[in-house]
Amino acid sequence: MTLNEPEHIRMIRETVRRFVDQEMTRRKAYEWDRDNHFPRDVFGKLAETGMMAVTIPEEFGGSGRDILATMAVIEELGRRSLAVAVPYIMSTCYAGMNLVECGSEEQKLEYLPKVAKGELMFAYGWTEPDVGADLASVKSTAKRVGDKIIVNGTKRFCSGAGIADYIYALVRTGPADERYRNLSIVLIPPNTPGVDIDFLDCMGMKGAATTDVSFSDVEIPIANVIGGADGWNRGWEFIVGSGLDVEKLEVAALSLGIAVGAVEDAWAYVQERQQFGRRILEHQSIRHMLADMQTSLHACRLVMAQAASLAQAGERCSIETSMAKLFICEAAKKIVLDCQTIHGAYGYEKEFGIERYVRDVLLMPIIGGSSAIQRNNIVNWMGLPKA
Ligand SMILES: Cc1cc2nc3c(=O)[nH]c(=O)nc-3n(C[C@H](O)[C@H](O)[C@H](O)COP(=O)(O)OP(=O)(O)OC[C@H]3O[C@@H](n4cnc5c(N)ncnc54)[C@H](O)[C@@H]3O)c2cc1C
Repeated sequence: MTLNEPEHIRMIRETVRRFVDQEMTRRKAYEWDRDNHFPRDVFGKLAETGMMAVTIPEEFGGSGRDILATMAVIEELGRRSLAVAVPYIMSTCYAGMNLVECGSEEQKLEYLPKVAKGELMFAYGWTEPDVGADLASVKSTAKRVGDKIIVNGTKRFCSGAGIADYIYALVRTGPADERYRNLSIVLIPPNTPGVDIDFLDCMGMKGAATTDVSFSDVEIPIANVIGGADGWNRGWEFIVGSGLDVEKLEVAALSLGIAVGAVEDAWAYVQERQQFGRRILEHQSIRHMLADMQTSLHACRLVMAQAASLAQAGERCSIETSMAKLFICEAAKKIVLDCQTIHGAYGYEKEFGIERYVRDVLLMPIIGGSSAIQRNNIVNWMGLPKA
């Protein structure tokens, strides 16, 4: 199927596909998942292709902020392994896009050239033991003491804290009754005294291992407040800005990549597997499943392209990006489970990639704002009176 994508996006896809075939083989993807391993060497080689620069303006060493390109790279990496695709997001989006949007001039000058070279990764420290969808209720605190900040609290499900340069932590910086106003985002190096990391045993998304992180009187400079000293108490404003729209697309692009990979595998498998003396592709039920999957994939690509184009143009797109997150993550889940059905017993066996795709895709409707939260947002923003 063609999408009439711009020529430069087609070229980016070809480059990343070649890279994936050479450096991210199926065997390696299996091993990274099995060992919960982040392949830093492969990530370094990816940086050499220039793909880290696509979120960074040229004046900071990038190739210009290009959301369609970013989503294409995430999708192509996600097609093979989240052990590279998620760290890619941690670098280009969590560090790159957020700093472009919310960083002070000093922070942009210091950090963005590093992102463009693949030398900087942030882990998101938003969720807490008692804080899931309701992010404005975070309990971790930061206090200003002279030119220092003292952080205390606990973050849960902080993916990639063990490989990141900084934890991009949402903290309360004033009384909790002013819930949206007294929040800030601070950068905490994971090796700072008082930071403790415990690894969680999650079902999928291996590579950028998911962790619990506790902060006990962690001291960081005031320069580590996102937005500089002026960013104090502006954390909520930063979180719900246009970065949130792009973040929804990042998870959707991962889901799309996983679904594309699964369909490619199923497409090949039906041509190889023989039962009752004929290839299983000859069963109409199998053919129809594949037709439905290809149709869903095509719809996902169109929804993604439209939402990403709006975000790239700087237009309002909160509804479209929520629809894209909801639609693509749920469609990808169904597609991948159907691919598993087609693989029969081999869809349940670990050395076949499909088992990993299933574990990974099940996460997508949960993170980055669950499907229920996207549904709430869509009807609320489209003006349906609140229940
Ligand atoms: C593998 C993994 C990696 C993760 N990585 C990170 C990370 O790097 N950084 C980070 O900060 N967090 C991360 N998370 C956390 C993730 O973002 C949270 O799971 C998410 O914020 C939702 O929180 P919760 O799961 O606690 O669900 P809750 O908010 O407790 O919700 C529970 C259920 O209730 C539903 N629900 C909640 N509120 C509403 C509502 N208003 N209307 C309708 N339904 C509602 C939800 O949809 C869900 O089904 C990760 C989680 C996992 C599993």
